[in-house]
Amino acid sequence: QVSRTFKRGSEVPFYVGNLDSVFEKHQKWQTLLPRVTPFYAVKCNNNLAVLRTLSALGTGFDCASKREIEMVMSIGVTPDKIIYAHATKPQTHIRYACAQGVDMMTFDNEEELLKITRGHPNAKLLLRIAVDDSKSQVKLSTKFGATLGTVGSLLKRAHELDLDVKGVSFHVGSLCTDSVAYRWAIEEAHHVFEQARLIGFHLDLLDIGGGFSGHGLEMVLNSKATVWVIALDEFFPADSGVRVIAEPGRYFVDSAFTLALNVFARKKVWSLPINGNGLDTMIMYYVTSGLHGAFGDIKLYPDKKHLFCAPTGTEPRYQSVIWGPTCDGADRIMDVWMPELNIGDWILVDNFGAYTIPLSTDFNGFEKPTIYLVVTPQIWKMLNFKGYFGIFDIGPHFIVIQSVVDVWRYFFLNSYSSYI
Ligand code: PLP
Repeated sequence: QVSRTFKRGSEVPFYVGNLDSVFEKHQKWQTLLPRVTPFYAVKCNNNLAVLRTLSALGTGFDCASKREIEMVMSIGVTPDKIIYAHATKPQTHIRYACAQGVDMMTFDNEEELLKITRGHPNAKLLLRIAVDDSKSQVKLSTKFGATLGTVGSLLKRAHELDLDVKGVSFHVGSLCTDSVAYRWAIEEAHHVFEQARLIGFHLDLLDIGGGFSGHGLEMVLNSKATVWVIALDEFFPADSGVRVIAEPGRYFVDSAFTLALNVFARKKVWSLPINGNGLDTMIMYYVTSGLHGAFGDIKLYPDKKHLFCAPTGTEPRYQSVIWGPTCDGADRIMDVWMPELNIGDWILVDNFGAYTIPLSTDFNGFEKPTIYLVVTPQIWKMLNFKGYFGIFDIGPHFIVIQSVVDVWRYFFLNSYSSYI
């Protein structure tokens, strides 16, 4: 969405994060997957208000490091609601988890088992297995997960070391487009449960990881998707005594955040036309956050190429390049055909809450986007945020609004200053 309105005076990029959206995602999850407890993947968006919202809703948290454990514990999350879901961990982080009482953690190799024996011998372990990630945009199974051929010897080794293996985890890869991938993974996990039983373990925890789309729960909603929910009931029926958890990141936050970028410079150049004769105008725009800022993961997520959707209409479109603000010649966000913009215009990028905020740097001295959070009074009350008010570490950047639809009016019209 391209906005021609002007936020007076400011050029600093900013996000608007809608906590109502996080709340709604949680409601939807509970309706569609009542058996599966979400442990939100903090790495995806570690904004404190998001963490507090999810904590108030009762989710658990998937932490990847000591720092993330510290962060969620600082807002009052108890250790039983944390899984240290990184298959390869620094020894000091393992010891930290142990000292804090964070017991659930994953592993995928023998060296890790030895480290855990030294740092947290009473940990409750989940064996992370490598699964088919060919249908996902971000692949994880080359780097993480034990292959099925090594599972038996790993479980035997854990048994010899007197470690407590409680379950199996997997991750089909981020942005998974095929629900059958989950089905296969669930079936493989079931196979590992059987192997573990023969070795003498009693597993009762299945962690189905993340990978769910941020624009809904399509994996569950379309007919193909039911394939894996059925598989869950087939291989791990409700009366099997197996607790099922997941580590969704993108699902909860992607659609909740919109980024606003200021066009602070532009340059017209000539380029060869795609077809026909003569030269075409190409317009280069320079905006306030780029590949070293909010767009740090754009190469990993090709779907973000659709981010800049110009308004429909009859306005002529020009071949355009959108550059980030830094002196890095590779800081090229994307090439796109769109109507002409002027200096001072704002570009709004929807669905931008996943893997953007934690990846931003202030390279070249350009500020990271400011984060404004909005929530309606109903949800504010429902979440019982009253108790949090004042200790919310987000200062004045918190806005309670009547309707989230009106958000952009607050930012771009005169009323803006009275709300921030
Ligand atoms: N769990 C683990 C171990 C991960 O590595 C990731 C993402 O990289 C996630 C959960 C979250 O995945 P997503 O955001 O695709 O749901």
